[in-house]
Amino acid sequence: MTKPETRDQSTTSLRRPRVKPEHRPYLTVDGHVRIGSVIHGIGAEIEDPDGWVWALTQALNGTRTPAEIAAEIVGTRPGLMTEDVLRAVADLAEAGFLEDAAATMPAAFSDRDAERYGRGVALLRWMDRSPRLSSWELQLRLAKARVVVVGLGGSGGIAAQGLVASGVGRLHCVDPDVVELSNLNRQVLYRERDIGRPKVDAALESLRALNSDVVVTGERSEIRGPDDLERLLRREAESDGYDLLMLSADRPPAIRRWANQACLATRTPWVEGGYRGPFITVGVYAPGHGACFECHRDQDADSRDLRLAAGQDDESISPRMNWGPVNAATATLSGGLLVHAALSALTGVPREEPGFRYGINLMVPGEPELSRYPRRPACPACGGIAP
Ligand SMILES: [Zn+2]
Repeated sequence: MTKPETRDQSTTSLRRPRVKPEHRPYLTVDGHVRIGSVIHGIGAEIEDPDGWVWALTQALNGTRTPAEIAAEIVGTRPGLMTEDVLRAVADLAEAGFLEDAAATMPAAFSDRDAERYGRGVALLRWMDRSPRLSSWELQLRLAKARVVVVGLGGSGGIAAQGLVASGVGRLHCVDPDVVELSNLNRQVLYRERDIGRPKVDAALESLRALNSDVVVTGERSEIRGPDDLERLLRREAESDGYDLLMLSADRPPAIRRWANQACLATRTPWVEGGYRGPFITVGVYAPGHGACFECHRDQDADSRDLRLAAGQDDESISPRMNWGPVNAATATLSGGLLVHAALSALTGVPREEPGFRYGINLMVPGEPELSRYPRRPACPACGGIAP
């Protein structure tokens, strides 16, 4: 999980500040300036009785320095001070509405990279509310990231594809199964010709063909306990370890608990996703930050009025079925939520404190479900982990 942003890139660092194109402002009927996506909850509405805030947002077009802009605005508004304008520029930068037109792309990226990843960088720029010179810094984080994905079924395949398409640095894929005909209604990594092949072999071929910039490796192996996951995560320890575990397997049933245990032991942030019928969820955890999987699960169970009789357990409520009711829609949504959670954990955009699960209930469209609980000091899994 990325560390909190340092605030060293405010207005003083912006040589030629401009409003991010995605945050283009507009005027309201009552003379306020709206900047960002106010109706989507990521913008701001600013009072502007004298009209100079609007003039300022129009001047922030990447052609002038803050001092030049301030001089221009002050020159047309008697009584307005230079520091008022500079403070407003600083506030807009601090709120993440500005970038620096003079910033250059990190040297690691070529023109081809700019073309390939430009749309994703623009989306990050839109969602990013931290002051930053250039959103390519976020793409650089992705390019350096090492991720391990366990489970290459419906959600895992989509999520792996998403990370590789997004330009993550390295992806290691783990799955024990072979491709079967019954997989092909939603596992879009595979083709009919792959039936009978180990999934990991077919996935590697597909993922490498998608993006040759990414180092994609894999192994056909089964996770039989927390030690297997811990070994997997520690194998990269000499080279700083994995930045993220993406768990997209739901067998054996205890695999999420094992992942929690292994990630706490290796201090690896992790995301998990899946579905039960029309209920699609993703969980985001980071050791020492917010609830761990077990903290969350116990409190979530306590919060629901399950009315379980003696002898009934969690499995009784929503049993796992070997024939897995799933189609291309549920698997793709699940994989999409998972890759979003992974990109967010790796880039810090959008910034979310870990320790939560959320999801979509296709039976009640428009009502995403979110559950977040505090970390439990007495949690047997994470109780001793320092922040
Ligand atoms: Zn815990």
